[in-house]
Amino acid sequence: MSKPKVAFYWCASCGGCEETVVDLAEDILGVVAAVDIVLWPVAMDFKYKSIEDMPDKSITATLLNGAIRSTEQEEMARLLRRKSQFLLAYGSCAVSGGIPGMANQFPREQILKFNYEECPTMVNEKKVHPQVSCSDEGHTLKLPQLHNVVRSLDQVVDVDYYVPGCPPTPKITKAAVTALLEGKLPPKGSVIGPDAALCEECPRKASKPSVWDYTQFVRPHHKLLDPEKCFLAQNVICMGPSTRAGCEGACTTGGMPCTGCFGPTSRVTDQGAKMMSSLCSNILAKDEEGINKTLDTIPDPIGTFYRYGLAKSILRRKVNLPA
Ligand code: SF4
Ligand code: SF4
Repeated sequence: MSKPKVAFYWCASCGGCEETVVDLAEDILGVVAAVDIVLWPVAMDFKYKSIEDMPDKSITATLLNGAIRSTEQEEMARLLRRKSQFLLAYGSCAVSGGIPGMANQFPREQILKFNYEECPTMVNEKKVHPQVSCSDEGHTLKLPQLHNVVRSLDQVVDVDYYVPGCPPTPKITKAAVTALLEGKLPPKGSVIGPDAALCEECPRKASKPSVWDYTQFVRPHHKLLDPEKCFLAQNVICMGPSTRAGCEGACTTGGMPCTGCFGPTSRVTDQGAKMMSSLCSNILAKDEEGINKTLDTIPDPIGTFYRYGLAKSILRRKVNLPA
């Protein structure tokens, strides 16, 4: 019997998700022995044409990481969807837009203008911008174009399963791969990971306040923090209450608050709104001026509450930009 065919592909992402696959350490040998890898551009040389020539649904599973930011990424997402029985959104960027999704605060032209004309570290006297097409000696080269907005994978194609995290942990990755190989898959649309809040597996949870009187918020580097006490009890914003468990408190055990990379649980519609609602109901001041004074101590609300999920949130983008 032939081995299941598996593809890995990356779109708008940093490459950390690809490293997690390698972080499976010796377990990766079992994966490699059990499957035929038909596409993995970061590690092996494959041709897109070979994928195009494969019959539809002939790839058992594609693990795609990264948000959809460009025309090429959208084209590949659609191609791999067509060729795959199962498509997994792998990592925060594919699941909910991730860090690239924060670009949805700005129109594409503003991003290009800053990066190619105004950025202090850029030397570009002629103010050249990337072109989508150029011709030389009778040949035309076409390059991908940036979309105006960043989208999660399921805002472009149908997704079967979600593997959360920035990046997903080796344990979650192994659970997803094992479920695929053993045919023990949860219902379509499931997130691979526990459906509980991160606080439940955090070693600091005993000191988590149920009510609090915030007069200000501080950032982790602003004061010497108690290494065992809940961050929220030290006026540091920690996204644990509105974030899915599964990482075993990777950040909170390492001395940093959770920034929310595992996304929300199934009971939370909008991770950032949930956290803001919880914090705002615990602000001491009840008058507008006092409330604003407290909120002004959060210097980057989008980066704090929507670091990984702006593209998939209720807000989605800052202004009504065309797709
Ligand atoms: S809020 Fe953060 S530090 Fe506090 S218990 Fe939850 S995850 Fe842990
Ligand atoms: S603690 Fe939060 S930000 Fe850190 S890995 Fe876990 S879910 Fe992600």
